[in-house]
Amino acid sequence: MKWDQMTVSEQRRLQDEKLRRYLTDVIAPFSPYYKQLFAEHKIDPRQIKTVSDLRHLPFTRKADLLATPEQPQKFREFIITPDVSVLKRRPRVIAEALLRGQAAVKRRFEREFRPIFLTATTGRSSMPTAFAYTDYDMRNLRTSGERLIQTIGGETSMRGVNMFPYAPHLAFWQVMFAGIEFGMLLLSTGGGKVMGTDGNIGIIDKIKPEAIIGIPTFVYHVIRKAHEQGHKWPQVIGLVLGGEKSPQGIRHKMVRLLHEMGAKNVRVSATYGFTEARMAWAECPTPPGQSSGYHLFPDMGIFEVIDPQTGEVRGEGEPGELVYTPLDARGTVVLRYRTGDYVEGGVTWAPCPYCGRTIPRIVGEIGRASNTKELQFGKLKGTLVNFDEIHTILDDTIEIGEWQLEIRKAHDDPNEVDELILHLAPAQGVDVEQLTEKIRARFQSDIEMTPNRVEIHSLEDMLQRIRLESALKEVRILDARPKE
Ligand SMILES: [Zn+2]
Repeated sequence: MKWDQMTVSEQRRLQDEKLRRYLTDVIAPFSPYYKQLFAEHKIDPRQIKTVSDLRHLPFTRKADLLATPEQPQKFREFIITPDVSVLKRRPRVIAEALLRGQAAVKRRFEREFRPIFLTATTGRSSMPTAFAYTDYDMRNLRTSGERLIQTIGGETSMRGVNMFPYAPHLAFWQVMFAGIEFGMLLLSTGGGKVMGTDGNIGIIDKIKPEAIIGIPTFVYHVIRKAHEQGHKWPQVIGLVLGGEKSPQGIRHKMVRLLHEMGAKNVRVSATYGFTEARMAWAECPTPPGQSSGYHLFPDMGIFEVIDPQTGEVRGEGEPGELVYTPLDARGTVVLRYRTGDYVEGGVTWAPCPYCGRTIPRIVGEIGRASNTKELQFGKLKGTLVNFDEIHTILDDTIEIGEWQLEIRKAHDDPNEVDELILHLAPAQGVDVEQLTEKIRARFQSDIEMTPNRVEIHSLEDMLQRIRLESALKEVRILDARPKE
């Protein structure tokens, strides 16, 4: 059965069956964390027969994986650790040993269960957490990679340049293994920190890729610089973005510049993925300004959408927090993992209007459920500020080259009120005063507040400020308040 052409009832049946088998054969006997959790909550995994029964399992949160003084190696509890004596009693394994010998069985156990690879969370706000992969998971990583390229509409004759930062982070490796499994020429530059902006431009000049892949701000930066230097990249037909949000504004800016560089028909696909799932999902190609949503792999994992306050599961197409459960993973495994990502359109099973695939899709803007901060603008009460909305306003403004929002205490005094300072590098030839006015008006109408000050910088200075070439993630929101 092809992964992207199953009917909804076929998908449901497959998910129910895989979930049952996964919980009873792998999780309950071999996950130290969940074995204990099931015992504590008196959960009999055999009672979880369908995807909708998942709601009887407690959620797993990011904090559950963090080291504590009592358990400095907490993340190890989540690694599937088989009991060989249990495995050896299974009829399938006995048959395998008879047919192929004990050594072959031992080798297969190793391939299935021994961690051989790691990626880690980027941990801007907390300690990075490592997620282990076994050879079994590397196969899944390759499968999800191949499907990503299929979703994006790639062909083996195409070439790609992967500009994700070289690091033990999912994005770089997902793309690398995608190229290998799909079988297309895909060169990984390691991003700005490894080869610099000019190095990346030089590689694109040489390889002439149809697809450019990376973090939106860095891809935009490379295109902008190449455009400035008069390079022509007429062969480019696809931009594949990930690692952070890809608002329509920044997509539009990139497509416009590439158009002037000779690439007349560029389609942009954003991807969504996270360390804990050890895979990513993509949009299929759409006309500019539209989004197909992220195409999921129903045979590999389950997404639930929940009310972040009550934890109740929401219906199809309803907004809420994304919760993920894998169906066939080894290494580090988290069940009902709360991503902290809030999606406006929920998950839909309607066939994709662009590519016709029948798999579920995550639709609408994805934002951090926790991306709201309380700021102290007056002495008496705090104001809730949604930083996702600020991101959208600034990324959508074509006249802005780069930006950063800084939160400070007035006079650097911890007892004083908070101030918002917007740092801007305008695009070439833009009237600074008009731009400042326009931004203030947008802030006022969209979020009913305005920055205390707007400071204008050169593009070079702004790139320094947001550390585009040196940091793994650019610093858009800089909280410069003294730590308590
Ligand atoms: Zn589609």
